Amino acid sequence: MLVLTAQQMASIAAAAEAAWPGEGCGLLIGKGRRVVTVTQVMNAENLLKSEGNDRFELDPAARFAAERAVRGTDRRVIGHWHSHPDGSAKPSATDMAQAWEPDMIWLIVGTAAHGEGHPQTVQMLAHRLERDTGRVFPIRMELAEKRACQGARFPT
Ligand SMILES: [Zn+2]
Repeated sequence: MLVLTAQQMASIAAAAEAAWPGEGCGLLIGKGRRVVTVTQVMNAENLLKSEGNDRFELDPAARFAAERAVRGTDRRVIGHWHSHPDGSAKPSATDMAQAWEPDMIWLIVGTAAHGEGHPQTVQMLAHRLERDTGRVFPIRMELAEKRACQGARFPT
C-alpha cells in the first residue's frame, strides 16, 4: 500500500498538469515496507521532454540529490511519478523497458485536456513493474488523512 497526503497528491497533479502536453516527473521519498508512506515529493526535470510526449527520463542530478537527502535517515527513495498526457495511468511499453529497479514504485498520473479546457488529472495509479516477465503489480493507494481516521480498533 502507498500512503500519500491530499496535499502531496495535489502537488503531483499540479506538476503533471503544468507539464502537459509533455510528461512531468519527479521522485517519491518515503518510509515503510508493507505500508509505504510518502514523506516528500520532489519534482524533477524530464530530460526527454523535447523528444515527444511518450517518454521520460528523470534528471540523474535529482536522484543524486534525493539519495543525499535521505542518507543516514529512515527514509529512502521509494519510487517516482510521471504523467501520461493521454490520460492513461497504466504503464506503457516504454515504461516497462525502463523498469530496471524492481523495488521502485511507479506512480503514473493520467492527465488530459478536452477541447479548449485546461489539462486535468483524471487518474493516478501506483504499480510495481517486473521487467523480466512484463508483469504489472498494482499497489493500493490510500490518503493519509483517511488512514488517520481509522481507529486502531478497526484493523484491516
Ligand atoms: Zn509512462
